[in-house]
Amino acid sequence: MSYLEDTIAAIATPPGIGGIGIIRISGPLAEEIARRIFRPKKPISHLKSHHFYYGHIIHPENEEIIDEVMVVLMYAPHSYTGEDVLEIHCHGSPLVLKQVLELSLKLGARLAEPGEFTKRAFLHGRLDLSQAEAVLNIIQARTERELQFATRQLQGYLGQEIKRITDCLREFKAHLEVAIDFPEEEVEIAPLDAWLPRIENQVLKPIKRLLQAYSRARVLREGAMIAIVGKPNVGKSSLLNCLLKEDKAIVTSIPGTTRDIIEDVLNINGMPIRVADTAGLHKTKHAIEAIGVERAWEKIAEADIVLLVIDVSRPLDKEDKEIYEKIKEKDIILVLNKSDLTPKIDEKVLNKEFKDLPMVHTSALYGQGIEKLEQTIYHHLLGKDVSIPSFIPTLRHKQVLERAIEVINRIKEAMVDGLPAVFISVEVKEALDILGEIVGETTSEDILEYIFSQFCIGK
Ligand code: GDP
Repeated sequence: MSYLEDTIAAIATPPGIGGIGIIRISGPLAEEIARRIFRPKKPISHLKSHHFYYGHIIHPENEEIIDEVMVVLMYAPHSYTGEDVLEIHCHGSPLVLKQVLELSLKLGARLAEPGEFTKRAFLHGRLDLSQAEAVLNIIQARTERELQFATRQLQGYLGQEIKRITDCLREFKAHLEVAIDFPEEEVEIAPLDAWLPRIENQVLKPIKRLLQAYSRARVLREGAMIAIVGKPNVGKSSLLNCLLKEDKAIVTSIPGTTRDIIEDVLNINGMPIRVADTAGLHKTKHAIEAIGVERAWEKIAEADIVLLVIDVSRPLDKEDKEIYEKIKEKDIILVLNKSDLTPKIDEKVLNKEFKDLPMVHTSALYGQGIEKLEQTIYHHLLGKDVSIPSFIPTLRHKQVLERAIEVINRIKEAMVDGLPAVFISVEVKEALDILGEIVGETTSEDILEYIFSQFCIGK
């Protein structure tokens, strides 16, 4: 029997005692099972689709009543799975539910695997894969925000956006194929120059926007991570204390005292932000300090934002610049600390050395500029647009999108280098296959299995 020809059944409500408990059955036998075990209170010729009926579940052999129930039959394709679906609403007793489930198994259904109802919905094209994942996320949401993201994903926005992107790539591929098939006619592949901006604007940019939405959503969902760096004695520990509004880090005037990493969570406008104060990133022969420096680098790699602290009461030196050189690939906010003292650094020098970095003046000693710093961090994390994005890729989507970007960058390079259409076409197919994984067009069986196995039975 092929996968979709059999009938599956499961208890769809959570285990334990409840007001009602629901048995869900999907597949070609759903209607027959209803006919054999359900006795409506008022005689009827047949169960109408999407109508609720009151009656009893009876044992088909001895007519013994098992429970008083409501049933609803939803004929294909207008059901959750796209197949005939029968729901039996029983009293919420685990014993009753077990008996009704066993009856349906006796009549030819088999026990559903976790997520199998949703998997069937996907296989019947009722949902794309990103929507099926949204169902899982709705069930598993722990916060209102997670729920909101998942609900939006269920609307299929992500799938629609991916379709717009792949439509453009398909059109491009068709053009390339004409050029491959009719080389002698010298059909110009609508000069490549014309395609480059389209690939940029209709493929690359939308993918990057999705990735941004991911990181913003992740920050909103899970909070962010900030690392405080700077040479010794610039006021990193003091700044951390100010942000946390308590004395957690040991503040001393001896350079190199923060040997371990102090980490805590602060809350900016309701967003949880982990802050790590790192040891000075200077070279050291001291063994324990060296460990601190190494850990500092790990934290910096993890951080969404790095606060680079500079002591403005002393001239900018080689060490400040070296630290900046090492972290300049990160998202940096420059914190000009000790601004209560006479400045020894010219703003022009700062602008020249730290091209266009956002800067905030603070005095960690007097708690000045801290609020401004907090708001700068907040806006930096969320971007200018603080509204919640409507497409929220998950980690799986993010990884797929990143792979797609790599291939598309290769395509761009190949176009610029004037490589043959055959070569570019292979890469375009690769990009299409990768993007297809998001909606489930090209997703491997393993991944499907993995995704649906995270569901509960009955969903
Ligand atoms: P770290 O080594 O970078 O963590 O620096 P600390 O936070 O331990 O501070 C080193 C010294 O600078 C301490 O004596 C602090 O009191 C002092 N300090 C920190 N921030 C400020 C500030 O904004 N203004 C002034 N005047 N002193 C500060």
